[in-house]
Amino acid sequence: YAKGTGRGNYQFFAPEMNRAARERLELETSLRHALDRREFHLEFQPIVALDGDVVRSAEALLRWQPGGKAVAPDRFIPVAEETGLIVPIGEWVLKAACAQFKRWQAMGVPLGRVVVNLSARQFAHRNLVSVVRRALDEADCAPEQLGLEITESLLMANPLEAIRVLTVLSDMGIQISVDDFGTGYSSLSYLKRFPIHKIKIDRSFVRDLATDPEDAAIVTAIIAMAHSLDCSVVAEGVETEQQLAFLRERGCDEYQGYYFSRPLPADTLMARLLAPSGAG
Ligand code: C2E
Ligand code: MG
Ligand code: MG
Ligand code: MG
Repeated sequence: YAKGTGRGNYQFFAPEMNRAARERLELETSLRHALDRREFHLEFQPIVALDGDVVRSAEALLRWQPGGKAVAPDRFIPVAEETGLIVPIGEWVLKAACAQFKRWQAMGVPLGRVVVNLSARQFAHRNLVSVVRRALDEADCAPEQLGLEITESLLMANPLEAIRVLTVLSDMGIQISVDDFGTGYSSLSYLKRFPIHKIKIDRSFVRDLATDPEDAAIVTAIIAMAHSLDCSVVAEGVETEQQLAFLRERGCDEYQGYYFSRPLPADTLMARLLAPSGAG
């Protein structure tokens, strides 16, 4: 049997160990060194207000390039979650995002907030609130300049604990969004119990908006019900003019997607936001 998931730098593979398991183990091993080797960086995707087409915030998205070759977040984030490595990695993301936000401010970039994804494992960690406070303090950012994204499943897993932690963060002034909404099992009425400010419609519902009447109905319902709960709505994964027109007509508040911009390196986003042509 293959061992080597421990702290040692060695591992050996039995020949019968299948390829997927071996790749998983290799990924995990190199992920353990990724912070020390400074293999992470952030990209930022603008979040655009439909009213006036202005960019007010940007979502930080983690990028990992071990040996110069990028590994997709959908591959390494789950491994980071399972191993608990997401806790120190997530702390790095918070600090790096706040520090970047401060640099943009110093350069006069007209952004109000930077938004960071939190994983369930980080959320369950006892010192999350102090980690967030420290990231803000070290970068000299105000809590109002930070947004946090959490998933529905996180809220469902331990609702009472989620309410407690989110109340602290929200009372500090941090904006809370529910990410990938519609993919979990919660109902909007259930969400009423949580101190949340925004709902992000998962991009799987946005994709076929123009052609699939069911998706169109779901998106319409999410927008209307979110508004009735005093939450604002962000549509994820907007790639076409038609999708945007639909969302605009239904009163969606903000959108994110390749139609406006892919996630960008910090300097590229800054150049774009400072360009004389404005946010567009
Ligand atoms: P997410 O938070 O829902 O982020 C949105 C994802 O959709 C990003 O993928 C983004 O690049 C992608 N996207 C944006 N616009 C479009 C579009 O128009 N079309 C399509 N097809 N995709 C679009 P990415 O960067 O690969 O990240 C995937 C997921 O990994 C994120 O989903 C988030 O759940 C997780 N993730 C990324 N960074 C972090 C992090 O720092 N911490 C944690 N815990 N999770 C992270
Ligand atoms: Mg997100
Ligand atoms: Mg999402
Ligand atoms: Mg997602």
